[in-house]
Formats: sequence, C-alpha cells, structure tokens
Amino acid sequence: MIAPKTAHSQPAEPLALFGGTFDPVHFGHLRVASDTAAALRLPELRLIPSKKPVHRDATSANAAQRLAMLRLGVSEFPGLRIDDCELIRETPSYTVFTLEHFRERFPERALIWVIGIDAFLGITRWYEWQRLFDLAHFVVLNRPGFAVANALSASLSSVWNGRLTSDVSALRTNLHGQLYLHTVAPQAVSATEIRNMLLEGASDNALRPLLPASVLAYIRENRLYTGPT
Ligand code: ATP
Repeated sequence: MIAPKTAHSQPAEPLALFGGTFDPVHFGHLRVASDTAAALRLPELRLIPSKKPVHRDATSANAAQRLAMLRLGVSEFPGLRIDDCELIRETPSYTVFTLEHFRERFPERALIWVIGIDAFLGITRWYEWQRLFDLAHFVVLNRPGFAVANALSASLSSVWNGRLTSDVSALRTNLHGQLYLHTVAPQAVSATEIRNMLLEGASDNALRPLLPASVLAYIRENRLYTGPT
C-alpha cells in the first residue's frame, strides 16, 4: 500500500545517476562516484553504461562486456549500483531520453546527473541540452584549482549563473534545475590510457593501480583491448 502524502512527509530521497561508456570501468569512475555519493549524502547512485556513445567514437568492448566489467568493479564499492536502461532501450543513448525515463519512473524524486567537468563543458553539443535542466540537477565534478567560470562558453555561462547553487540541500528540496559544483580528489586515470597501455602490452603490475583486479582479470580472459577495434 502506498502511504498517503502528508504535510509532514519527508521528501523522497534523490536518485543520482552517473553516465559513461565505461570502456573499461576504472578507479577514476568508481572512487569519484563513491566519494561523491558519500560527501553529498546521496543514498543511491546508479552507474549508467551507454549503448553507443553519441558524442564520440564507437566503444572497443561491446555492451555486454562493458556491463560485465562494471558489475565486477561495482561489487567492490558498496553503495554503487548499475542501471542498464540505456543498453536495453532501442533509442540512442541521449541523456535527455534517459532522464525522461527516470522522471517517469520516479516523479517525486529529485534526479541528479553526476558528470565530470570535462564532459560538462561540452554539454551544449548534447541533444536537446537545454531540456536537461527541466529533468534533473547536475552535480559537476571539478578538479582542485580549476576555474570553471573562465572555461564556460557564452551559452553555458548564462545557464551556469542562473542555476548554480552552493546549498547542497537545494538538490533535495527541488526536483531538478540546479547546478552544484563538487571538487573531487583528482584520479589520474582514463579509459583511453588503460586501452593504450593494454595495446602496448603493459604488465598486470602496471595496470593494477588503475582498475579493480577482477576487471583486469576479465580483460585478460577475454583478450580485450589488445588490437585495433
Ligand atoms: P575515455 O578515456 O574512453 O574517454 P573516461 O575514462 O573518460 O573514458 P567515460 O566513460 O567517458 O570515462 O566517463 C564517464 C564519466 O566519468 C564522465 O563524466 C567523466 O568526466 C568521468 N571520469 C572519467 N575519468 C575520470 C577520472 N579519472 N576522475 C573523475 N571523473 C572521471
């Protein structure tokens, strides 16, 4: 039975979403997602692997392999979950479609799209990007010392100035529409670097600091990233 809503009822907990290609997932993704969820007291954060990247080249590993690696990686980070909604739906992995899907499923929960600053700076190239803020908040992960305001394009700058909040509770009291800047410890790792290292025959010792051992074992067993795609 659904409890009736009263004036005293608590707002529903926000749902945080972290999208990416995860080709492969690495400690940069996992630590940053986990630390952000803890720092902002977000009870639920779902990693969303994209089917086919819409803003970049094709992935190297296929969707099933990327999902399998994500499952292995997430198992070491309690609190992180995976949602395969972009993999199972027919439409392209446009974030605006993904957010519509979550908004329909959870009309009373604030939605929070967590995104690295580099990806955020290119957001005006995303499909129907202005509608994103009618669906979700954005938590932008910044590097220490990086002046975001100086890096914004003119169109993004007006959105930034209008929506930025330094009050984290605004991510709970409103369902969408705020921008919140969260500074994270830099994680010097990218999936591109890992793929290049594998292509060049890097040893397990060299790779182990960059991604969970279970993910590395899966890569080795399936001979991923060892040749051109
Ligand atoms: P690639 O090197 O293939 O571009 P990536 O490692 O950047 O991949 P993505 O799956 O493209 O990973 O990124 C998903 C999200 O994770 C993006 O919002 C991106 O900014 C963020 N991210 C990736 N690597 C890091 C990192 N080392 N520290 C913090 N955020 C990261």
